[in-house]
Amino acid sequence: MLSSQPHPRDRLIKQLSTQGIYHQAVLEAIRTTPRHWFVDPALSRHAYSNHPLPIGYGQTISQPYIVARMTQELLSHGPLTKVLEIGTGCGYQTAILAQLVDHVYTVERIQNLQLAARTHLARLEVQNVSFSYGDGQWGWTEFAPYPGILVTAAPSNIPRSLLEQLALGGRLVIPVSDSKGGQVLWKVIRHRTDYQQEFLEEVNFVPLCKGVV
Ligand code: SAH
Repeated sequence: MLSSQPHPRDRLIKQLSTQGIYHQAVLEAIRTTPRHWFVDPALSRHAYSNHPLPIGYGQTISQPYIVARMTQELLSHGPLTKVLEIGTGCGYQTAILAQLVDHVYTVERIQNLQLAARTHLARLEVQNVSFSYGDGQWGWTEFAPYPGILVTAAPSNIPRSLLEQLALGGRLVIPVSDSKGGQVLWKVIRHRTDYQQEFLEEVNFVPLCKGVV
């Protein structure tokens, strides 16, 4: 018998729409990207629930809503040629970005996670991503400036290097933790003489750590 239950991916997209995700290309990228490929097979039945999931090494694949919100904020002023992503993790956010911008430069400090991300993106035949193994607080100077920078782990202050590598008019979307254990997601826009910082929402990311593993 045919089930009248909506496909879990369609249910997720509906949920994201009610949570304020309006960018059609972002919704479409999330609907068509197999998130279950990015997690342990034992967790794949949870892949289309709107939750973060463990990816090993004490890290998590971000909640689809957060991936969508950050991507939507990054693209809110129009299309972007290139984006710097700090915190590749399993590569899910990278895969979403790669469908929406010309090129993604992504930095990860845990080598095994970077290897997993490479495997996932190769399986998806994604070719417009460059990977770097290193401490992302320093950004990736070689290809700077970037019209968009997205950070998926929380520092206690916005790293100066990332502000410096942001193009004029560019946008940085970054979670920052405070001394009381809270975290805020910020959008920072670079103007000619200063940076404008806009509060987006309270969030809960893993910390941005120093060095490499
Ligand atoms: N966007 C990822 C989220 C992974 S969680 C995903 O969709 O899977 C955050 C990631 O940031 C982790 O993989 C963690 O290792 C990485 N990270 C933390 N501090 C970092 C740093 N200083 N430089 C680069 N990556 C970092």
